Amino acid sequence: MNPAIARQIEELRAELRRHERLYYVLDTPEITDAEYDALMRRLLELETAHPELITPDSPSRRVGGAPREGFVKQRHSTAMLSLDNALNEGELRDFDRRVRELLGGESCEYTAELKLDGLSLALRYEQGLLQLAVTRGDGQEGEDVTENARTIRSLPLRTEPRWPAFEVRGEVVMPLTAFQKLNEERAAAGQPLYANPRNSAAGSLRVLDPAITAARTLDFYAYFLLVDGRPPLESHWECLQALQELGFKVNPNRARLAQLDELFDWCRGWDERRDTLPYEIDGVVAKIDSLTQQDRLGWTARFPRWAIAYKFAARQAETVLEDIQVQVGRTGALTPVAKLRPVAVGGVTVSNATLHNEDEIARLDLAIGDTVVLERSGDVIPKVVAVRERPADRRPFAMPSHCPVCESEVIRAEGEVARRCLNTNCPARLRESILHFASRSVMDIDGLGESIVDELMARGMVKSVADLYLLTLEQLAPLELKGEKNTRKLGEKSAAKIVAEIDATRQRPLPRLISGLGIAFVGERTAVLLAEHLGSMDALMQASPERLQAIPEVGPKVAESIRRFFGEPHNLELVERLRAVGLQFAYDAPARPAAGPLTGMTFVLTGTLPTLTRDEAKAKIEAAGGKVTGSVSKKTTVVVAGEEAGSKLEKARELNIEIWDESTLLERVLTQK
Ligand SMILES: [Zn+2]
Repeated sequence: MNPAIARQIEELRAELRRHERLYYVLDTPEITDAEYDALMRRLLELETAHPELITPDSPSRRVGGAPREGFVKQRHSTAMLSLDNALNEGELRDFDRRVRELLGGESCEYTAELKLDGLSLALRYEQGLLQLAVTRGDGQEGEDVTENARTIRSLPLRTEPRWPAFEVRGEVVMPLTAFQKLNEERAAAGQPLYANPRNSAAGSLRVLDPAITAARTLDFYAYFLLVDGRPPLESHWECLQALQELGFKVNPNRARLAQLDELFDWCRGWDERRDTLPYEIDGVVAKIDSLTQQDRLGWTARFPRWAIAYKFAARQAETVLEDIQVQVGRTGALTPVAKLRPVAVGGVTVSNATLHNEDEIARLDLAIGDTVVLERSGDVIPKVVAVRERPADRRPFAMPSHCPVCESEVIRAEGEVARRCLNTNCPARLRESILHFASRSVMDIDGLGESIVDELMARGMVKSVADLYLLTLEQLAPLELKGEKNTRKLGEKSAAKIVAEIDATRQRPLPRLISGLGIAFVGERTAVLLAEHLGSMDALMQASPERLQAIPEVGPKVAESIRRFFGEPHNLELVERLRAVGLQFAYDAPARPAAGPLTGMTFVLTGTLPTLTRDEAKAKIEAAGGKVTGSVSKKTTVVVAGEEAGSKLEKARELNIEIWDESTLLERVLTQK
């Protein structure tokens, strides 16, 4: 084993850990994502070359190991019980009265914390190293998800061993932005959507392939510290502080409150402001702060007597289902949409809600005329969760056997939930595919909205996305656009803008074009991976299923869908037309700074080198990703020494630091690894 390599690996790890904490826990990053990636790649290279040096707490383990067959059950050290609920002010008052009676009138304080709507997780650390992560399960026993939990960046893999062994409990959540992005990608790929961030957090943590967990953005907030089965300090508040000092992310929105009225105000305040948070909460948890008092209060058969979960009212509303209409998407999938009597849910008026598919309608036993319960969580599209009343004159709904737009027969393929119109010339599919192509995250053609697309199609001016590139100012300016209230001309100015916007798409990078083609199961993220690994549209068109499946996250289903897409003559014709109008068919990977053979290494120069000046040597080291500092310390990886090197060289020898001459430096700067 080479001690210099071992030291370099340890330094890279320390550096990565520091940046992870700055970025994911403290939200104050010092370096760019690309710089972080470069450090991580350097670590992975060294670990690949020296697998004997890999340790389970290495930040490289966050990228996700090999998939498993299933999860192993694991008993909890002490039960993870749930809390008693208070659903309104009265129930919160009852709780407070009981507590004060049991404490014989002694004064007490509450710790109030937000109740994050996620998935509870217990983490066990030994000698400061994460050993085990277990889901709540039934409270007595959960699933060992250690490999997946390692991929959560805000969760420390190692921390100070303030106690030889301790347990941390907390909540895994998916931030709302990550949730929305994930669902957009799933929608683009024709995959079923997650109902809410809690389900997607649970789904992402409990997949068998940790690489999938790593690709999803999950966050961990710690709220409970246990040593030998109980909190090790005087109060819950001090435990939260200790967790923070150990490097865990602890929710800053917490308070210590002495009076019930203050507690209730705090709860009500957060109920009103819950939409300002980047994650979902469903209430507030209040605990008696003093652990001595907690012990005196003890437990009922099911709950601790010293804690309560104050639950916010669900943002639900009841209304009448007036009709069910069927929409045709760009992949031809037919989606039933509920037309509702308008109703306010969580401050937003709702008159439409997706019903997903016919199985969902059957599951809810839903018919037109029913009174239904709508629920809205976060910014998520409202959904019908239940039927409240089924009147006698309700009208059952059946999915049509023919496309409501082009009247072609629709087919529900084996194993699919959706019926699809298979007519590739179906106007509904064309309309949706143009809107998808023009959308912000794809080719970003600002101004090309629904009303213009409808008009272009009605006039037969656009029969494929390639036709967009033939549009002229003279054709666009006179278009009559039907608004809700009146009809207006598009006009020269808007027309010129659209022509310019379309022209600008010729410079959009290849991944956007790939996702713009509308290949089933190929969303934005997959498109990026395809472009990065294959490098060009032609390589994608020719890639074998085996080549495609060698790309991360591309499975047999995606590979088959890509092959099928490029197997159809009219798709090939479309691609050739897009090539002819000058879109980007090659992929230029974004420049990656500072990733070189010396990334992660710290150098000190001393003495006179035979050919290079000090500045030239420094420039070469930096160009290769290395860092140059002035004095030798334990953090130095290499000392480059020339003639008449003095005390720095001595110190390097003392500290057992690797020493290079100029020729070694020049050699290493040029090697690729
Ligand atoms: Zn159709």
